[in-house]
Amino acid sequence: MIIDDQIYDVIVIGSGAAGGTLVGALAGKGHRVLVLERGRQMSLQDQNVADVALLRMKERFHPQERWFGPDGDPFAPQTMYALGGNTKIWGAVLERMREKDFGPLPLQEGVSPDWELSYGDLAPYYDQAEALFRVHGRAGVDPTEPPRQRDYEYETRPVEPFLNELRSGLERQGCNPYELPLSWSDNHEDPSGDAELFGVAPAIADQQVQLRTNAVVRRLHVNPSGIEVRGVEACIDGQDWLFQSQFIVLAAGAINTPVILLRSGNQSHPRGLANGSDQVGRNLMKPQLTSILQLAAAANSGRYQRSFGVNDYYWGDKNVSFPLGHIQSCGGVLQDALFAESPPVLSLVAKLMPNFGLEELASRSVAWWAMSEVLPDAHNKVYLQGEQIRINYIANNREAHDRLVYRWIDTLQAVEADPLTHVVRTAPTHPRGEAPLSVMGYACGTCRMGSNPATSVVDLQGRSHELHNLYIADASVFPSCPSIGTGLTTIALSLRLAQHLESEF
Ligand SMILES: Cc1cc2nc3c(=O)[nH]c(=O)nc-3n(C[C@H](O)[C@H](O)[C@H](O)COP(=O)(O)OP(=O)(O)OC[C@H]3O[C@@H](n4cnc5c(N)ncnc54)[C@H](O)[C@@H]3O)c2cc1C
Repeated sequence: MIIDDQIYDVIVIGSGAAGGTLVGALAGKGHRVLVLERGRQMSLQDQNVADVALLRMKERFHPQERWFGPDGDPFAPQTMYALGGNTKIWGAVLERMREKDFGPLPLQEGVSPDWELSYGDLAPYYDQAEALFRVHGRAGVDPTEPPRQRDYEYETRPVEPFLNELRSGLERQGCNPYELPLSWSDNHEDPSGDAELFGVAPAIADQQVQLRTNAVVRRLHVNPSGIEVRGVEACIDGQDWLFQSQFIVLAAGAINTPVILLRSGNQSHPRGLANGSDQVGRNLMKPQLTSILQLAAAANSGRYQRSFGVNDYYWGDKNVSFPLGHIQSCGGVLQDALFAESPPVLSLVAKLMPNFGLEELASRSVAWWAMSEVLPDAHNKVYLQGEQIRINYIANNREAHDRLVYRWIDTLQAVEADPLTHVVRTAPTHPRGEAPLSVMGYACGTCRMGSNPATSVVDLQGRSHELHNLYIADASVFPSCPSIGTGLTTIALSLRLAQHLESEF
């Protein structure tokens, strides 16, 4: 093993939404920072998903490794091991959690837990996160929107003209569609914003920041008393390395962060590092995601950004007062990496339009995502069996999600029956499909934060309850799983952690 002779101030493991943001925030302040990222820089060609034949080439966005599902069968997770992590293929919709999302929030099947942080605690970091990721949006349209100091700095992006007509059709049904806030770079070759562009790239201009790609962190080593991380072991281009630092920040995502901790078990931490509470890897959550297709009256390009959101059922509907979830336009079916994981939906459309090829079917579709929260459950977990990554996962809160799906289909039918709406057609059915287990991009909760060391892994700053120099920055720390995307909150928490670390140096 090669022992690196430098002692860093911070080692950041992973360069996705959390890690990329953190290193960007720490750069330029005189700290010696090392970033260890298992992936490499993606080629520009692969980065611009609008130019990739996603339905046919989705393997590009899967690592080589296999994880194992509840039935013991291997599956190929959709997760991006690259500089920028999953932000390289995300939809770039960056939304704030609503005040009530910080809980405790009663759902149909139980109470979604309290974050012990309020919206007000995160609001300043949401402001910073939106500015950093150049979020283009419009405030004051979505009735569920939480309070904010000012409108977005960047105006919303123009949408495909047919979508504006669809929006008016939805408004005639009493809906309140709003422009989804999008991270946008204005770089033609890779237009959506990501953590490499807004975090890592500016950071490595600082000579104090070192980046090692193709660096798979295997385990952390602790001092003899077991209260401090002393070394980070990584395999770089087939060679084992050991790195040392004052602080260690795990930002390897909600599956790999617990995996690193579990693999790092030793005599003083027999269940895995930082796992006295036995919560490392548990409470795995990801929002229930169902794609719903509508028949377009005319072909569209199938390649455009996500556009509108609808939160009219976020807190319930006319019959129930528990949260149902969020509706989001999928964007062009041909450039939605999540949709590419659910091809069976298109085969349902094929029945409506025989003799159409895959691309033609896609371009005749208008796609929506219905997204609903799930509750943390200790049995839903990631764990290691030998070197295999095992996932036990059964979604809960399903009835609320079904209700959201049916509510939305009712709404779509009403829009289609409206003689003033010409851009969609009445169809005998609305093909739909749930995202499979392989859709892991929104995973969270596997190292949850809280003030009680008996029930959580890190404290409210993200510091391990057991190892004073170990922090977790990524989506693992979420105590609950909001119906909207996890991205902006992950970035905001990371900015908050960067500020905390400044006070610790
Ligand atoms: C297709 C898709 C669409 C999405 N769309 C949206 C959206 O529109 N809006 C939204 O809010 N969210 C979206 N998400 C979710 C969003 O991408 C995640 O919430 C966010 O990226 C989580 O950030 P993270 O830092 O926890 O993990 P990641 O961004 O996944 O970063 C983890 C990083 O750690 C690296 N890593 C892992 N293991 C190791 C190791 N052992 N050693 C070194 N490095 C390691 C990985 O390579 C990666 O770079 C989407 C996700 C996907 C996959």
